[in-house]
Amino acid sequence: MIKYLSVSRLPGYFRCPYCSPQLNTKLNASNKELLCPNCKRKYPIKNNIVQFVISKDLDKETKRELKGNSFSLSKKNIEHFANKDVWSNYYNHFANQKINYLIAYLNSIRPKGIVSLGSGTGFELKEILKRKHINLIFSSDLAFAATSVVPVTLRGLNLKICLFTSDLNHVPVRPNDSLPILIYEALHHTRDIHSTIEKLLQKKYKNIFFIEPCTNFIIKILAKYNLAQRVEYSGLKPDFLDIGILKKLSKKYEYKLKIRTLWDIPEDYIRIICKKDSLLQTILLKFIDIFSWTGNLFHFGSFAVVSLERSR
Ligand SMILES: [Zn+2]
Repeated sequence: MIKYLSVSRLPGYFRCPYCSPQLNTKLNASNKELLCPNCKRKYPIKNNIVQFVISKDLDKETKRELKGNSFSLSKKNIEHFANKDVWSNYYNHFANQKINYLIAYLNSIRPKGIVSLGSGTGFELKEILKRKHINLIFSSDLAFAATSVVPVTLRGLNLKICLFTSDLNHVPVRPNDSLPILIYEALHHTRDIHSTIEKLLQKKYKNIFFIEPCTNFIIKILAKYNLAQRVEYSGLKPDFLDIGILKKLSKKYEYKLKIRTLWDIPEDYIRIICKKDSLLQTILLKFIDIFSWTGNLFHFGSFAVVSLERSR
């Protein structure tokens, strides 16, 4: 059964995303909203979701991203989005690799809960929780609609959850050593992935885990021919992770960095040369895996599973 974290406990986990953390202002909580006594911003609570996204405070790209990811909350839509996770064997092959690497990182720190950001409707979260039981889940997305689907996606699990909307550039979560930050393929939706990562490091979270598409010389060549980094359904041109920049950032902010890379070829490319679940697909997957395994020795892949741990 899903239980919601009580409103009175929210100020212990959140702070105003727009006020300086140095002020350490405590938010005032009521059943209706969280209020920042400093800037007077109000964060309404509706259907158990704290809304930290204030439309007028978003930049142009984020506003467009929000619009592209919003849908009406009809019963039909909710069921549709909550059950969209029937992944193909091909897609699962790579999703399993990513999630397994992520779980290895999680196992190394044994967290009390997780803060999942950019979670959409919670499919990936569900896949993670199927493999690793975690009691306390904070789940957030830019879009209110997607966040509203999360409890339906996670139904049947025994959890305490807290839902909120937030912008990855203004994360309202207080650093908490037993709650790592987890981001599954969402950072590349921001205007500048490295600046968003830098903001997270400045907030001094103890552990940050993420999975994101990377760029390297091969991806850059493919992108030139529009074969990589393609414009997404929401009209957004994704910004891919540069491992060189990530290494510099982790050094600058004194984080211990672990990276596991892999190659994940989009299914629509593979379908040009082979049929679903064919023998050729099995052979190709084997080749891609060998390529991933070798590439990982040099952090050379199309995706990276990353662990950042604050050294001090
Ligand atoms: Zn404030």
